Amino acid sequence: MATLLEGKTLAGQINAVTAEYAAKHDLTLAVIQVGDDPASGAYREAKKRQAHRLGIIFEEYLFDTFVPAREIESLIRQLNSREEITGIFIEQPLPRGYDPVSLLELVDPVKDIDGVTSANAANLYLNRPGLFPATAEALMRILEFYHIDPKGKEAVIVGRSNIVGKPAALLLLHRHATVTICHSRTQALKEVVRRGDIVVAAVGKAELLKGDDFKNEAVVLDAGYNVTEGRTVGDVDFKGAVAHVSAITPVPGGVGSVTTASLFHNLVKARQLQYGT
Ligand code: NDP
Repeated sequence: MATLLEGKTLAGQINAVTAEYAAKHDLTLAVIQVGDDPASGAYREAKKRQAHRLGIIFEEYLFDTFVPAREIESLIRQLNSREEITGIFIEQPLPRGYDPVSLLELVDPVKDIDGVTSANAANLYLNRPGLFPATAEALMRILEFYHIDPKGKEAVIVGRSNIVGKPAALLLLHRHATVTICHSRTQALKEVVRRGDIVVAAVGKAELLKGDDFKNEAVVLDAGYNVTEGRTVGDVDFKGAVAHVSAITPVPGGVGSVTTASLFHNLVKARQLQYGT
C-alpha cells in the first residue's frame, strides 16, 4: 500500500507562516474577474474567504463581459502603482475577445503572485528568485515535506501547460531530476510514465493514468482536479494506483490544498521582493 502524501498538514503549516507574516505587515490581494464564469466566481469567493482567515486585505474588481480592454489595463496600472497592493490575481479564463497574454503581461512582476508574466517565467527558467505558479511550487513543497529528494531521479511530467507542467518540469530540473515532459502527441505514453521515479499528472483528463502504468517504486503527484458524475477525481485512477505505487497524493486532499496555501504564501514572497523584508 502506498504512502499517502496528504496536503492538509503541510497546507496548515504554510498558512500559519503566511498568517504570522500578515499580522506584522499588511498584505493586500487584488483579484480581477471579467465576466461571470461560475467557476471563476467560485474560485474568487474561495480566495476571499481564505484571505479573511489569514488576515489578508482583499479587494475585488468585477467587470462585465464586454468591458473595453483598456479599462482593465488602466485598473492593472493603477494597482501596480498603489504601494499597499501586494499581489494581483486575474481570474482565468478571460472571456473571448480579450488577449490574456497582453493583459497578464501588464502586471508588475513583483506583484504577479500567479507567476504568469514573462519576467517571472524568465526568473523560473534561469533559476532566479521570483514568483512562480502555485501548483508547481506546491508539488515541490510536497516532495520536500515528505523528504523525497528528486536529485538524480527520473521525473516524468504529463502535461506541458504554462501554469503546471512546464514550471513543474523546470523546478524539478533545478532540483537535479532527469526530466521528461509528455503531452497529447507523446507516443507510447505509458512506456514513458513507467520510467518515472516521480510522475506528475497535470492533464485535466479524469483518471487517465492507471495503476499499472507506473512502476512500483513510483512517487505519484496528481495535480488533476476533475469533477465527473458529482465526484472529484484526479488525472490518476487513485484506487488502482494506491495499491501499486510507493507514494501518491490523494484527490481531493493532496496537491489542491497546498496549491492554495502556496498562492497565498506568494504574497509574502511578493512583499519581500517589494520591500526586502
Ligand atoms: P491544460 O489543459 O492547460 O494542459 C493539459 C496538458 O495535458 C496539455 O499539455 C495537454 O497536451 C496534455 N494532455 C491532454 N491530453 C493528454 C493525453 N491524453 N495524454 C498526454 N497528455 C495530454 O491543463 P492545466 O495544466 O491547466 O491543468 C492540468 C490539471 O491540473 C487539470 O486537471 C486542472 O484542473 C488541474 N489543476 C489543478 C490545480 C490545483 O490546484 N490542484 C491548479 C491548476 C490546474 P497538449 O499541450 O499537447 O495539448
